[in-house]
Amino acid sequence: MTAAFSFRVDATDGKARTGLISTPRGDIRTPAFMPVGTAGTVKAMLPESVRATGADILLGNTYHLMLRPSAERIARLGGLHRFMNWDRPILTDSGGFQVMSLADLRKLTEEGVTFRSHVDGSRHHLSPERSMEIQRLLGSDIVMCFDECPALPADEKRVAESMRLSMRWAERSKAAFGDRPGHALFGIMQGGVTPELRAESAQKLKEIGFDGYAVGGLAVGEGQAAMFSVLDYAPGLLPADRPRYLMGVGKPDDIVGAVMRGIDMMDCVLPSRSGRTGQAWTRRGQVNIKNARHMDDPRPLDEDCTCPACRSYSRAYLHHVFRAGEIIASMLLTWHNLHYYQELMQGLREAIAAGRLDAFARAFDAQRAAGDIEPI
Ligand SMILES: [Zn+2]
Repeated sequence: MTAAFSFRVDATDGKARTGLISTPRGDIRTPAFMPVGTAGTVKAMLPESVRATGADILLGNTYHLMLRPSAERIARLGGLHRFMNWDRPILTDSGGFQVMSLADLRKLTEEGVTFRSHVDGSRHHLSPERSMEIQRLLGSDIVMCFDECPALPADEKRVAESMRLSMRWAERSKAAFGDRPGHALFGIMQGGVTPELRAESAQKLKEIGFDGYAVGGLAVGEGQAAMFSVLDYAPGLLPADRPRYLMGVGKPDDIVGAVMRGIDMMDCVLPSRSGRTGQAWTRRGQVNIKNARHMDDPRPLDEDCTCPACRSYSRAYLHHVFRAGEIIASMLLTWHNLHYYQELMQGLREAIAAGRLDAFARAFDAQRAAGDIEPI
């Protein structure tokens, strides 16, 4: 049995790469999109259905799972894979970002963060060492360093201090992670939108040495143009022979732009969350199934899509069950959205392998610009 974590690049097209991450729990085709299973479930989906959309890996959230049902309980029950019935790779975040965005009464020191749970007000502590322990208890295949991330825009002094704290925490994360064959630890680059700070962060992470590297601190309210301006140079500061992960991204056009700039992995709640709010993502852009124009429309959401929502149901039905508050509306729209995202990733991988990524991106833009089908 090969117990190693490895990454290989099979083809490049411009800055974009396609390849394979191998783990003892299975392979991850890159560029990869990771659906988010926040609290041990991708909401409204069975794990086998998530797999059927083409997902090779899921993301789990340390912050949510440590509060409920707790990492120790999940470990006693055999680990997160067994607990949630997903035997393929899982990446867990470090909890740092969500402590900053969700928890109450946070107190940040050099040592770590104490906070109160947004669920029941109980008091908790997270540090690089505790985050590594929780992610080990969960049984995560790809573990993220504990870091701190200021919301943008923030002044450069604050971003620099935060980045340097995160680099000290990255060193402590690496020491606490130890030697775990078959499991990977990813460092997280910070530095906001300042090239010098991004370069300093990348240099420090390379000195520590990680199995993969994330570009952190983006998709926090800076907008696509600012995000792309960082992605124009940031992936190139990281080792070419390791996977590069853009955290928390994004919309379909964010994904295409990030892949063209050299990103290999992404995650986002968007396809599943928007499924529950009546928003569908299609080749022709965003469709709001709540809109009255769908009320008498017997056509599928997307005639070319092979997902269960498009194969067996009409726009009129999806509109009806959403309006009626039926659970199947969330199930079908989430399935469609996740299917669309994975199909987009497959298209990107094939286009990179064939050296026709520019043409793929032009067709992607043109279809979206044409907009949704005409109302009947
Ligand atoms: Zn569909």
